[in-house]
Amino acid sequence: MTALARVAIVTGGSRGIGRGIVLSLAAAGYDVVVNYARNATAAQQVGEQVEAMGRRALLVGADVSVSADRQRLVDQTVATFGRIDLLVNNAGVAPDVRTDLLDATEESFDRLIDINLKGPYFLTQQVSRAMIDMVAAGTVTTPKIVIVSSISAYTASVNRGDYCVAKAGLAMTTQLYAARLSEHGINVYEIRPGIIATDMTGPVQAKYDDLIFNQGLTPIRRWGQPDDVGRAVVAVATDLLPFSTGQVIDVDGGFHVRTL
Ligand code: NAP
Repeated sequence: MTALARVAIVTGGSRGIGRGIVLSLAAAGYDVVVNYARNATAAQQVGEQVEAMGRRALLVGADVSVSADRQRLVDQTVATFGRIDLLVNNAGVAPDVRTDLLDATEESFDRLIDINLKGPYFLTQQVSRAMIDMVAAGTVTTPKIVIVSSISAYTASVNRGDYCVAKAGLAMTTQLYAARLSEHGINVYEIRPGIIATDMTGPVQAKYDDLIFNQGLTPIRRWGQPDDVGRAVVAVATDLLPFSTGQVIDVDGGFHVRTL
């Protein structure tokens, strides 16, 4: 363990894709801030795995849709580690109930926008300010920001329009921060996962099994795993894409490929 280890904040790092990202980053030598919303036990387990790999883990329960919680996440990170080299905006939720566009509620829309779009939009703002100061002070050199969106950023699913709109907003959020932060040496990347095996997709497993294995939905005929996304984040985190910003990285088994 070295005091010079780089530090990443991973929102929603306690389960699913976020957990995969945390473990990949720890294996790549990062100390990690594991953010979660409610399930402290899951966060604790991930933290123990990080420490078993010889890295440090800070667990922070904070709701990304709440401004004061986001600021506390940043403040606790800085107080503990003194630096932020990477922010991974991963936390997100699906609608409680998939509902046709003509029947869907404003309550669900507000929830999805607050957690999936407003949260990462303003957490990125809050972390960017800290990163800019750290670059100016020489504390960090090439900090980076990753936004985990979805194939839903460009795929119309009429039974979860709120989710799609929030993810489409994240695509522009990536472009905006990439344009704004480049002068400070901060690159911004959008990672678009396809269908990944997590708690979120558990309720629709049978549907996706059929689409993937019987109907050829994706050129690569398997479910994605959290580790697939973790590897893409590590490519960014280890400076393998230094001349790319505002870049979309598809981690989707080729879902985005049109065929005729
Ligand atoms: P998941 O298994 O349901 O895990 C969600 C994680 O986010 C948990 O750690 C959860 O913490 C946390 N979280 C939820 N609401 C939060 C909030 N308000 N503040 C802070 N943390 C919060 O989901 P997942 O499948 O890993 O999805 C992760 C991200 O990838 C999401 O943005 C999702 O939209 C996106 N994505 C997923 C798929 C897929 O197929 N699974 C595909 C494309 C994109 P608690 O346990 O404490 O609730």
